[in-house]
Amino acid sequence: MQTHKHKAAKIVVVGSVNMDLLFKTPRMPAPGETLMGQSFHQIHGGKGANQAVAAARLGGEVSLIACVGQDDFGRSSVAALQADGIDTQLVRQVSNCATGVAGILLDDSGENSIVLAAGANAEVQSTDIDAGKTIMSGAQFLVCQLETPMASVAYAIQQAKTLGLQVILNPAPMQDIATDLLNQVDFLVLNETETQQMTGMSVENAESAVAAAQVLRQRGVGTVIVTLGAAGVVVVTAEGSMTMPAYKVEVLDTTAAGDTFVGALAVALGEGEGLQKACDFAQRAAAIAVTQLGAQTSIPHRSLVESHFH
Ligand code: ATP
Repeated sequence: MQTHKHKAAKIVVVGSVNMDLLFKTPRMPAPGETLMGQSFHQIHGGKGANQAVAAARLGGEVSLIACVGQDDFGRSSVAALQADGIDTQLVRQVSNCATGVAGILLDDSGENSIVLAAGANAEVQSTDIDAGKTIMSGAQFLVCQLETPMASVAYAIQQAKTLGLQVILNPAPMQDIATDLLNQVDFLVLNETETQQMTGMSVENAESAVAAAQVLRQRGVGTVIVTLGAAGVVVVTAEGSMTMPAYKVEVLDTTAAGDTFVGALAVALGEGEGLQKACDFAQRAAAIAVTQLGAQTSIPHRSLVESHFH
């Protein structure tokens, strides 16, 4: 993929905005234990915001539909999104409500444990989606995750299909998804844990991921992409399946790897790339993200992705 060869992909993201409070720790504390951490970082995150940032840094024209609180975290999150060129006119500031926060522990092995307080993310409503209909009608892709209420996500997907958009759903954190909603999803992008949760099947390798993805396709999803961390991705479509290994990098922190993958995928598909090339671009971007600490601090710009892995 070359810069500026194609028209920019037009993408609407419906999703969460969080402030990530990240503690580096030598190991995870046991219940009841107090442990000295090594460092603390306050980093912009939230799956919706991360995916919007990834799509924008990688060349997309991006609008975000989301809610934040009227607090410092909310104001600085919106400023950061705007600095990345994201249209935030549909990011609503909710009074008497805190911006979403994620408490993250990251240990020396790269493992993380996360607690989320949804805050304003729980306030995203169908009226927020209705306010975005004009913007949606000019877009190619709707990108959603599940850190905002399921009813709003379902409504957004339904509206997007009516307006002729393609839908990418990243069902994280996993919740039950109605079959008639899955029927409207063009690209379901999920990791191995979410795949196991959705199918009840064990996913340990590419072969078992393909089998589980086929089950999800039978529930009505167009294309299923299972991300397998350092083992890459499997892609299952009506035509068959393909397995693509990940790029080899030195891992520092995998936070936002999946979000970078999703944002990059939307950009490449929106520019008219085929599925294999789009997944390759997404894996390049995600591999760079795992070499850096934090969520939005780790998401690469397009020039960096294009100059890597030749
Ligand atoms: P997260 O929740 O940490 O954002 P995830 O669990 O949703 O991530 P993963 O399957 O871990 O998603 O990673 C998404 C993609 O990122 C992988 O398919 C791969 O392309 C890339 N990736 C993740 N980990 C690595 C790694 N260790 N080395 C290279 N690429 C990686």
